[in-house]
Amino acid sequence: MRDKLLFTPGPLTTSATVKSAMLHDAGSRDAAFLDKVREIRKRLLALGQAVSSSDGGEYECVLMQGSGTFAIESVISSAIPRDGKLLVLVNGAYGRRIGQMARVHGIATEMMETPENSSISPEAVAERLSGSSGITHVAVVHCETTTGILNPIEEIGERVQRSGPAYIVDAMSSFGAIPVDLPAARIDFLISSANKCIEGVPGFGFVLARHNRLLEAKGQARTLSLDLYAQWAGLESDGQFRFTPPTHALLAFHQALVELEAEGGLRARLARYRANHGALMRGMSEMGFDAYLAPEDQSCIITTFRYPEDPGFRFERFYQRLSELGFIIYPGKLTSEPCFRIGAIGHLFPPDIDALLGCIRRVLEEMNVDPAMRSPVLQRFPN
Ligand SMILES: *Cc1c(COP(=O)(O)O)cnc(C)c1O
Repeated sequence: MRDKLLFTPGPLTTSATVKSAMLHDAGSRDAAFLDKVREIRKRLLALGQAVSSSDGGEYECVLMQGSGTFAIESVISSAIPRDGKLLVLVNGAYGRRIGQMARVHGIATEMMETPENSSISPEAVAERLSGSSGITHVAVVHCETTTGILNPIEEIGERVQRSGPAYIVDAMSSFGAIPVDLPAARIDFLISSANKCIEGVPGFGFVLARHNRLLEAKGQARTLSLDLYAQWAGLESDGQFRFTPPTHALLAFHQALVELEAEGGLRARLARYRANHGALMRGMSEMGFDAYLAPEDQSCIITTFRYPEDPGFRFERFYQRLSELGFIIYPGKLTSEPCFRIGAIGHLFPPDIDALLGCIRRVLEEMNVDPAMRSPVLQRFPN
């Protein structure tokens, strides 16, 4: 039986070949397995236009067990010294989560809030930095998956570097599709995970870190298992993880990286996701759905749609029927209004989007809902 297709922010639909790469039991100290781990680390750096220090560059790749959040927490809890202070740039739930993490670890933290439907302004960041004292680290989310908005990480990086703090970027839902040049964006720590745009399976995240910043993290970790420096030092010394590696997920990820290259690299992947997203936007707006973000702020990664105003619309029912038809969509995460999300990433193609759109039409008919119908109140007071 065919798996349901995942139109979500992750985990995502993966290819049959990525799944079948997991049908092996690899020894965690076996040479063939360690070669794959080494190759994974090398390929990840190359995807970020970064070169490892052993090859004359400035960056390192650290793999970390757990979901993406664990990898972010390894950076937050290892990189910031006891007397450091973190500024988190927030325009969604994932930014807020970084702040929450810092508080758990007792790290001095400031939050700079931007509305969820606006991208973060580099000028506002520069102003904030010049008006605050003691900020040693700045963290931002590249694609804020809460809405699908893209933040200008290069321009923000320039402002951050000018005032001196280290720069941390959560590129979880964008890395592998939207090009990032780590040196050009002045990034010190970039975090992403196996099960997003590189189309592997869940099990670990990765950190691309500037070598000298990683060295500064030595002995600073607030946990044993998420110690970023120690994890890197372990991988460098014998190629191994300090604790049990997610061997099957790593085998799948190696295959996913080979498939990313075969597809034509980042550029081809981005083109496919854009084609998916374009088909989705056309179909949804034809049906009368209202996207939450302005088109110029919207990434091709994931899109937030408002609930139709038609009183017959019930999200639970909508979700359940689509699931029965083989399509998994995602609930919303906005603080302000009811919405749902549809992702365009993973091993999905425009015909999959067309199939989803056909089923959305069918379910709306079953529910007798017309998304183009505006509520009587709004019709009476159009502005
Ligand atoms: C998916 C995601 C994460 C990590 O979520 P996990 O559930 O821990 O994998 C973090 N930040 C962003 C922006 C994400 O999209």
